[in-house]
Amino acid sequence: MHLLDTPDACRRWCATRASAPLALVPTMGALHAGHEALIQMAGEQADIVAVSIFVNPMQFGPREDLTRYPRPKEADLARCQALGVHAVFAPDPKAMYPQGVAACTRVTPPESLANRLCGRSRPGHFTGVATVVLKLLMLLMPDIAVFGEKDAQQLAIIRRMAGDLNLATRILTHPVVREPDGLAMSSRNQYLTRPDDRTAALSLSRTLFSLARALAERGAPQPASVLFAEVLAQTGDPGFTLEYLEAVDDDTFEPVETLGPGVRLLMAGQVGPVRLIDTLRL
Ligand code: AMP
Repeated sequence: MHLLDTPDACRRWCATRASAPLALVPTMGALHAGHEALIQMAGEQADIVAVSIFVNPMQFGPREDLTRYPRPKEADLARCQALGVHAVFAPDPKAMYPQGVAACTRVTPPESLANRLCGRSRPGHFTGVATVVLKLLMLLMPDIAVFGEKDAQQLAIIRRMAGDLNLATRILTHPVVREPDGLAMSSRNQYLTRPDDRTAALSLSRTLFSLARALAERGAPQPASVLFAEVLAQTGDPGFTLEYLEAVDDDTFEPVETLGPGVRLLMAGQVGPVRLIDTLRL
């Protein structure tokens, strides 16, 4: 496994690799079974697999968890090695932003996609995501890049960027990988350390699956606001603070007011200081 830590090293590796198809899995590290599923999918789709591990400062707000975000580098590299990854790109922020984050050219996604949902509480977040993803795609020039459906808004923004900027990389997605109790896997789940945190965090998946069940039982499309209120009254938890629960058309990402097949539910909230998201396609 090649360990690449600078853009130059990336370019050199890309220049020497055979012309076999390359799939990239961009991550922020603290790898878990969700990331592993993406890496496996990448290996099924291409001969060569690269993983990037970079906690991107541009996508963190001033009061967010940039400094305490977990960075278990050795364990991450061991996981990649065990999965047969060919190259890991794990640069320092200085290597990615030599002039500093503030001075870097940015990719600004359309407001209509980036300022809703997570973008409301995280201004500038998706500019940081789009910028770093474009940098990674320019550096490694993969044929395929694999992203998780868990970050559904991020995925919609990356797809849009790939189309708008005529990128050659094909964007593939992997469904949400969950713990046995339903909690969507996330590197931030390791912050859930207080006794009742886990139960509170399950509000997310409980709400989404209860909505899907309620809709199936009624057998016909339902007004989102009515069903949301009914289900939230049953699935809430005193330790969970809802930030948003919204429904969008899964193809256009436009908000919808009626729940039915093909609608994507998106939910975010806090358990203490820990912000978690989840999503489900009906
Ligand atoms: P992160 O390291 O959190 O930035 O995530 C890197 C990639 O893994 C993104 O494309 C995420 O959507 C994806 N990912 C993270 N958690 C999961 C999960 N539980 N299931 C599927 N994909 C995930």
